[in-house]
Amino acid sequence: MNLDLTAYITLICTSGVLNLYLCFYVFIKRHHYSNIAHLFILHTGFTAIYCMGAAFSLLSVNLEEMKFWTVVQYVGMPFSPPAGLLFVMQYVGIKVRKKHIFALFIIPFISLIMVATNDWHHLHYRVFEIDPVLGAPYIHQEIGPWYTIHGMFIFSSMFVAFLLAVYRWKETAKAYRLQLIALMVGQLVPIVTAFVYLMGFTPQGIDPVPMVLWVSSFLYLWSINSSRMFTVMPVAKDAIFNSINDGVIVLDEAYRLIEFNLASKNMFPQLKKAMFGKRFADIWFTLSGSSFPFTFENKNSSQELQLFFADQSQYTYQVRTSPLQYANNSHGLLLIFTDITELKRLQLKLENQAYYDELTQIYNRRAFFQHSKQAFEEAKKSASSFTLLILDIDYFKKVNDTYGHYTGDQVLVHVVKACQSVLPQGALFARYGGEEFVLTLKGYTSSEAEVLANQLRRHVETQPLRINEETISVTLSLGVAQAAKQENDTLDDLLNKADIALYAAKQNGRNQVRLYEEKKEMLKRT
Ligand code: GH3
Ligand code: MG
Ligand code: MG
Repeated sequence: MNLDLTAYITLICTSGVLNLYLCFYVFIKRHHYSNIAHLFILHTGFTAIYCMGAAFSLLSVNLEEMKFWTVVQYVGMPFSPPAGLLFVMQYVGIKVRKKHIFALFIIPFISLIMVATNDWHHLHYRVFEIDPVLGAPYIHQEIGPWYTIHGMFIFSSMFVAFLLAVYRWKETAKAYRLQLIALMVGQLVPIVTAFVYLMGFTPQGIDPVPMVLWVSSFLYLWSINSSRMFTVMPVAKDAIFNSINDGVIVLDEAYRLIEFNLASKNMFPQLKKAMFGKRFADIWFTLSGSSFPFTFENKNSSQELQLFFADQSQYTYQVRTSPLQYANNSHGLLLIFTDITELKRLQLKLENQAYYDELTQIYNRRAFFQHSKQAFEEAKKSASSFTLLILDIDYFKKVNDTYGHYTGDQVLVHVVKACQSVLPQGALFARYGGEEFVLTLKGYTSSEAEVLANQLRRHVETQPLRINEETISVTLSLGVAQAAKQENDTLDDLLNKADIALYAAKQNGRNQVRLYEEKKEMLKRT
């Protein structure tokens, strides 16, 4: 055996042993690794078979042995690049499904059958014989049509895997780029070698690919050990990063954009990878049309942010910041955007339901007590007058009886609107219950309030509701009570007094205003 041949076989065996070692190494530790390990085992396993077949074929002494070892080579060789492609696909975050595996293994399987049955059809090798000049194990071969398909498929698999790795370059964090380089070079080595071979540049027509596959294997091995290719899964991290519903944006120590996830891209469609390295304050202006409302500080914070977009849409975000410390001791900032638009809308709706009357959309009794108690206390402190009015629609039952409950509701809404058009600013107006309303006026004496009460009464009386070709007019009776300055009146006391005055107005014939006077006097009048 000449020296060249020995060198070839040595190189091929090195590739085979390295691949076998990798295959077993990852297989034994597969439980520690993520599921890309399985595809890697497949890839290295096929490559090891290929190399072994190639080595034995160079040790063959006759055509039968050469043919046999070629078939063995084809048990591994056509399957190895698509397995490599599947491995890279999974590595870069594409979910590999059974159908992908099935589809990619169809042509390799046919190639294996073709080579095994070549003597009958010569579709793979048109000619496959011992080189007449060099003798065994050198081969003289002429390729057939299936060889072309097979070759193109092998090339494409490796090339697509290479492109996928290149495509991931920008998105891969710097710390993981060496792994990616290893992956790219690992794919590129057999591509270039196979190209050189097909162009006829290799001596004695020997397939040099298995001789160089140890380079790829070595790169993978180095990658696994030095940068823990399988245990630290950059892509898995990316997948987690991208599956977070919150928009996550990463800035460096100078508050420049270095990373963002899918959710933030959905929140701000103008966010682009081309913006990497730009100051986030500038980017924010492009995204929102306004300057960033918070100061960049390297600390934990949480703020609410309302954004109005050009398409009239409005969003509320909770923006949390969290300081980051990178491995190289530099700092950064994490911005987390949580879309709380719906939450805010619900909160507002609930607040509305809790404090506003559904029919008339003015304060309800609960809100009335809350707000007027506060106003009453303030009036007491500032020694200003405070007056309370109770308004009650006269003979409202009759409205319901005559026109129905629905129309009764419309009358209530109408009366509220009529009153609102007269009320001064700062008046606290609420539906107290049924067809009864309350009104508090800070800084009003009872006689000032009486004037206003009469305005309200006249306005309601003269503004009938026109509905369904009917004209419905109602009148109001009003009771007015002013908080006594010397006595320590409570709001309930005041309500009682106003109610007494209202009762007097009703007793006295309705559609009138009565001021609260001392009980005896009120009773005397009624
Ligand atoms: P008065 O002049 O003495 O105040 O007579 P009134 O009929 O207005 O007095 P009363 O308090 O006895 O009746 C009030 C009626 O208001 C009874 C109830 O059916 C009606 N009412 C209360 N709340 C509503 C409402 O939300 N919608 C409608 N349509 N009617 C209501
Ligand atoms: Mg009434
Ligand atoms: Mg009533």
